[in-house]
Amino acid sequence: MNNDQDIDPKDHKELGRELELFSFNRNVPGTVYWWPKGTLIFDLIVSDLKKRLTEDGYQDLKTAPIIDTETLKKSGHFDNYREKLFFTGNEKEMKEEKVSWCLKPMSCPGSIKIFNEQMHSYKDLPLKFSEFGTVYRFEQPGEVNGLLRTRVITQDDAHIYCHEDQIEAELVELIDFIHVTYTRYGFKDIRVELSTRPEKSIGTDEQWQKAESGLKKALDEKKIDYTENKGDGAFYGPKIDFHVKDSQERSWQMGTIQLDFAMAERLGANYIDEKGQKKHPVIIHRAILGSVERFVAVLLESTGGALPTWLSPVQAIILPVSEKHFDYAKKVTTMLSSQTGRVPDLGSIRVEIDERNESVGRKIRDAEIQKIPYIVVVGDKEEKDQNITVRTRGSKDLKAQKIEDFLKELKLD
Ligand SMILES: [Zn+2]
Repeated sequence: MNNDQDIDPKDHKELGRELELFSFNRNVPGTVYWWPKGTLIFDLIVSDLKKRLTEDGYQDLKTAPIIDTETLKKSGHFDNYREKLFFTGNEKEMKEEKVSWCLKPMSCPGSIKIFNEQMHSYKDLPLKFSEFGTVYRFEQPGEVNGLLRTRVITQDDAHIYCHEDQIEAELVELIDFIHVTYTRYGFKDIRVELSTRPEKSIGTDEQWQKAESGLKKALDEKKIDYTENKGDGAFYGPKIDFHVKDSQERSWQMGTIQLDFAMAERLGANYIDEKGQKKHPVIIHRAILGSVERFVAVLLESTGGALPTWLSPVQAIILPVSEKHFDYAKKVTTMLSSQTGRVPDLGSIRVEIDERNESVGRKIRDAEIQKIPYIVVVGDKEEKDQNITVRTRGSKDLKAQKIEDFLKELKLD
């Protein structure tokens, strides 16, 4: 998973506090307060994925956080999620029953609303709409758990509108995309589960058979072993879930791909086929990370906080041995940021100086607790030799080297 010999077995809430990433509000259980470093991690995860999605032909949306319950009744979400809805509105208007709105429990109806605003031809398909949508679900008080289960959830949601002949190719591409994404975070051992029609569902027998065999065909084509969960699908279609195993052999559910032959019909989504006939597209609902909050929890617990370098809020820390080395520390910092900034795709390194009046031993220990990938010590010897002493995360060695050589060895991915 990473270079560290021993993974810190701490819970993500404890790591979040220790690494200064986030905290929670006792008065509003299930909500998260992201601190500056946590916000940076959150935004890096989102921007990294958005960049790759754009390259893959996705178009990003932002749908309103409030939705009318009428639409949710049509889509079937109202009956299936009623106890999880956060109702909202002006108190007076709600009393008079003039409005019936809630915070959106999922982004699908919003995405379909945008799809329906324009006419679509079969030539436009597959059409891929993504949304990093914040969704709101009233999880029971006993179910709320740190970042693992929150009531305000940022899903990396997407809806792929396609016709039946395109399903398999889209699924195969998605399965690959998911594997590449997880590898970027160091997850390797990926397990797949296929969940079939639940008791409470919409759609016909024929639609369900087509959807289930579509998913099976894609998994077979990729030669992926999977276990089958009978009756565990979404109410609108069967799904494949992706589980990753962390370094401590624990399994976590992450992404999901759901095939849906029913909701386009319910919400009146159409396209014009080759013969000029109106048809309903098939909708593939999918989330790769699942929720950003939960993904961060899993990542923290499985790495013990030693995040991949590209995601570490501070990638290198400069430790001046004493106050008289501050100037040299600043010079090294400037050199590191300007030199790395010139390398395409590397970006400027995120570097800090520890100017506290503490011993260098203490500074090293604190930087280790913060899981900073590169610890750079500068004192009399370094200043005289115009070099730096570097300790790489996961290694006990201290290595004196020229800044140019360090830059050559530096890995920020
Ligand atoms: Zn959806």
